Amino acid sequence: MSTVLVVNAGSSSIKYQLLDPDTREVSAKGLLERIGQAGGELTHRVGEETTTRRGEYDDHGEGLQAVLDVFEEVGPSLSEAGIVAVGHRVVQGGKAIDGPRLVDDALETEIDRLASLAPLHNPPNLAAIRVARELMPQVPHVAVFDTAFFHDLPDHSATYAIDAATAEQYAIRRYGFHGTSHKYVSAQVAERLGRDDLRTIVLHLGNGASASAVVGGVPVDTSMGMTPLEGLVMGTRSGDLDPAILFHLHRVAGLDVDALDTLLNKKSGLLGMCGSNDMRDVTKAADAGEADAALALAVYTYRLRRYVGAYAAAMGGLDAVAFTAGVGENSPRVRWDSLAGLEFLGIRLDEARNAAGDGVISADDSAVTVLVVPTDEELEIARQAAGFARPSGG
Ligand code: AMP
Repeated sequence: MSTVLVVNAGSSSIKYQLLDPDTREVSAKGLLERIGQAGGELTHRVGEETTTRRGEYDDHGEGLQAVLDVFEEVGPSLSEAGIVAVGHRVVQGGKAIDGPRLVDDALETEIDRLASLAPLHNPPNLAAIRVARELMPQVPHVAVFDTAFFHDLPDHSATYAIDAATAEQYAIRRYGFHGTSHKYVSAQVAERLGRDDLRTIVLHLGNGASASAVVGGVPVDTSMGMTPLEGLVMGTRSGDLDPAILFHLHRVAGLDVDALDTLLNKKSGLLGMCGSNDMRDVTKAADAGEADAALALAVYTYRLRRYVGAYAAAMGGLDAVAFTAGVGENSPRVRWDSLAGLEFLGIRLDEARNAAGDGVISADDSAVTVLVVPTDEELEIARQAAGFARPSGG
């Protein structure tokens, strides 16, 4: 048995799972929300049993302590779970980090240094790592980076066409994110189709959304760039736009850098276009004839269609498309609309299979296999972390 505790700390939340990466068995999972705000809430699930705790959690330290306490109170006992490693999700690994790393003081310093590239993400990731190492000093802590899978993107895909010296000085390049999910899902597709030479497009469509082009397990392009703002239309983020819009809004509307940041990251995307970032609401409203929701859905799916075409060209052909994450796994409408009209690329969905949304959803005569593949970032993090487990008895 090799149990791993996976910790995914956001700015005001901690998501966690206790699981065995070999058997995939999840013995407990939970979510603590509203750290540093009023009305903090911890939901802890063991099988069908849900335990809820409410309290004020001032910082990630108090939050993580509450998580450890609930494990001790309602189980399973962490001290008896046989934990071989703690896996931590870290968003930005920069130019040097190309895989999971054992956390030591030097790595903490590096994650801290990279916070300038990911100011919303790396600080909470690091805060949780620091507290977890203090509270659980006896096990190895492993950082698994969102950017690592895309570390070796070809230069022509990672480079922005700006002044080279400026880019070098300020580490401006395309890093890509959601890498743990893209790695897991593309590997699932290869396993499922029994081929290791596939040209695959993975569409990770959650509240954040990204696409990747993967050839034989190696990513050649991805839609998120220096930050998770670039690329697809997302719940609250704009994705691609003309950067001159920022100069224009600064000059004519007087928006400063923080206001622009908030506008594009928090008030754009589906939410900005039609008032909801939940695809279920958007689809329902579009079906009810609301014009702004119909337009938002059309912009969202048209952007997807463009990326699929672009990535087929980037890879010189296409064998598989995989949909994953909240929207990708659950919205037949988005899957259908985004691939409509791509028969010339060899893509043909089967209507009934798409409605069922389980496994292969393309027609038997479709040259490209289209699949729905549930992502499992926790499992992928646990697997990578388990690779650093100390030999038992050691
Ligand atoms: P994630 O970030 O992967 O948890 O995905 C969250 C997104 O999935 C939210 O925007 C939800 O609206 C969306 N989602 C969840 N269930 C459905 C569904 N049945 N149909 C459409 N979108 C869904």
